[in-house]
This record gives sequence, C-alpha cells and structure tokens, in this order.
Amino acid sequence: MLPAEINLADLPLRPELRGQKPYGAPQLDVAVRLNVNENPYPPTPAVVEAMAQAARRAAAGLNRYPDREATRLRSKLARYLGHGLLFDQVWAANGSNEIMIQLLQAFGGPGRRMLSFTPTYSMYPEYARDSHTELVTVPRRADFTIDLPAAWEAIDSLKPDVIVVATPNNPTGTSTPIGVVERLCRASAGVVVVDEAYQEFSRTPENTCLRLLDHYGNLVVTRTMSKAFALAGGRVGYAAASRAVVEALRLVRLPYHLSAVTQAVAEAALDQSGELLAGVERLRQIRDDSILQLRQQGCAVIDSDANFCLFGRFRDRRAVWQGLLDRGVLVRQVGPTGFLRVSTGASQEMEQFHAALADLLSQDPELLSPERSL
Ligand SMILES: *Cc1c(COP(=O)(O)O)cnc(C)c1O
Repeated sequence: MLPAEINLADLPLRPELRGQKPYGAPQLDVAVRLNVNENPYPPTPAVVEAMAQAARRAAAGLNRYPDREATRLRSKLARYLGHGLLFDQVWAANGSNEIMIQLLQAFGGPGRRMLSFTPTYSMYPEYARDSHTELVTVPRRADFTIDLPAAWEAIDSLKPDVIVVATPNNPTGTSTPIGVVERLCRASAGVVVVDEAYQEFSRTPENTCLRLLDHYGNLVVTRTMSKAFALAGGRVGYAAASRAVVEALRLVRLPYHLSAVTQAVAEAALDQSGELLAGVERLRQIRDDSILQLRQQGCAVIDSDANFCLFGRFRDRRAVWQGLLDRGVLVRQVGPTGFLRVSTGASQEMEQFHAALADLLSQDPELLSPERSL
C-alpha cells in the first residue's frame, strides 16, 4: 500500500514521463499576449449569438450521447474545404492535436516510427511519446526548406510509418511546396500528414495539399479552427484524407469523443465562416507590415506564411523576452538560437510590441547581434 500523502515520484509512472513538464507556453496575465498564435479578434456579436443559440439547442438534448460520427459537422467542414471533398473524407476531433494523436494511435505505436523535419512544431515529440511511437527527425536546410535527398535516405533506411510536415511550419512560418509533399507521398509507403494549421494565412492559400488528395491515398491534410476561424477555445481540429484513412481514425477514436456542444458551436461557426474569416486578410496585412517594421528596427526576420514571424537575432533572447514582458508584451522563446516568435495581433497590439522593442533596443543596442544569419 502507498501512503495517502504521496509524490509523483512514488507512483508507478511510465519511465518516459519521469521528470517531464506539462506542455505549454506560460499563460501570463499581460496586456499584449502574442505568444500562442491566437487570432486576436473575438467573434462578432452576431457570431456569438449564433453560437449561443446553437449551444442552447444542444443543451436541451444533453441527456443523450452526441452524434458519434459528427456527420453534420463533417459535411460542413467538407463544404468549407471544397476540392470536391465529401463528409466521409473528413474527420473532426477536439483540436488538431487530438487528430494527430488519433493518427498515431492508428498508424504509429510501439515498434513504429514517425519522421518530422526540424525545427518544427514542439508538440510532435509529445504526440510520439504519448502514443509510444519512436520519433526520428531530419534537419531542415539553413533556409528551413526540406532537404529531399536527406528525407529520401531517412525514408529508405528507417521506413517511417508516419511522416509529418507542418506547412506553413511552426515556428519558422515557412511553407513547403506541394511538389515536395508529393515526392514524399511517392517515396513512402507510410502515411504522410501535412499539418496545414496556418494555411489560410499563407500568401498563396490556394497552394494547399488538399489538391493532392485525389492522387495519394496515404496523404492526410490536417487543419484547425483554432487559428483562422478564431475558435481556439472551441477546440475543433479536422483532417481531410482518403475514406480508408477516415475509417482507420474511426477505429481508434473514443466513443462520443466530440461533445454535442462542441459540434453545435462549430457548426454555427462554420455557418458564419465569412464573418469569422474576415480577420484573416487583415492579419496577413498586419503581419507583412510588422515584418517590414521589424527590419527597419534592425532585426533579421524570416518571411512568413503564418500568423506569426521569427525575428532576431539577439545575443541573449531571454533578456529580450523578459524586457518585452516588463513592458507588457508577451512573445515566445522558440526556434533557432537568438530568435523570438511573435504572433500577429491586432494593429494596436502590434504598435505596442514595436514600441516596446524600440524602447528596449534604444536602452541596450547591444542586445541585437550583428550576426544576422541563422
Ligand atoms: C496551433 C497549431 C495547431 C492547432 O492545434 P489545435 O489543437 O487545433 O488548437 C496545429 N499544428 C500546429 C503546427 C500549430 O501551430
């Protein structure tokens, strides 16, 4: 028997979890929060009203389990994606992070491998660990493009069961051309997952891997309502793939994984997609203006297709992060050495960010490193 007063170290925790910290950027109470790539625009009163009514209708039937197949929601998501997709080629879950876990439950697991291209999304190692999948990585080239010969070699020698490509990539903001994804699909017998969480913010949103779905049954394109749809709090992610992949996901999903309230609110949001997506064009403009301004402030900036960008290069990025925080602006310490990531906020928030950075750099110009390359 174990005593009632117990520490985590006393419990029979899985060895790979020992000493680990729960994932997450600091959720600090700061005036300007530009650290987790949220959409800064809250839903309009009309959208709030539509979602509230949908939640109310769902509430009246909460004695029943929800639609296990989320058929209506998946149909609406298919219609939103276009490309001739039907509901049985689309799957939905609680955020695209649950989609990824389900993909690894179906196609990864003990004795299996997942390949990703670093630097990339910091959650991938956790998905791999939580699903007992071995993670192998191939570093990107200096400009963050995927090194195809190195990828082919890894595919040949390691035979990954799952390959994940985030495009636009987090934290770099860079995109992978469709042709490169196509060559990965051809080279691998595994499942190729393209994480398009930021696709709507791309300078060329029409260059989506959805266009490849007709040709590659091993391709999965994942999306989320957390970013472009400004619905991070609603927790809805989705995937488009062959019917066979969707069948596989239906095998591993928990019964009734997507609550009736979530489904109803997401459907209402999709009915108002025009209004919700209105902020995307504005944010793209603000992002591009902000990149120009950062360059005028003496920073090196990576051109971005997402709602954030990497800027630097700093001798001590932690000092810059802290200096910005002291001035009421929260950004993220992530990505290559000496760089920080800033999410695109509303115009006023970006003004505060640039003013805080200017103030910080004027007090200590030495923070900026003369070495500008990565
Ligand atoms: C934000 C983000 C997601 C979205 O995650 P959700 O679970 O849908 O909120 C997925 N992939 C990447 C690379 C992201 O940055």
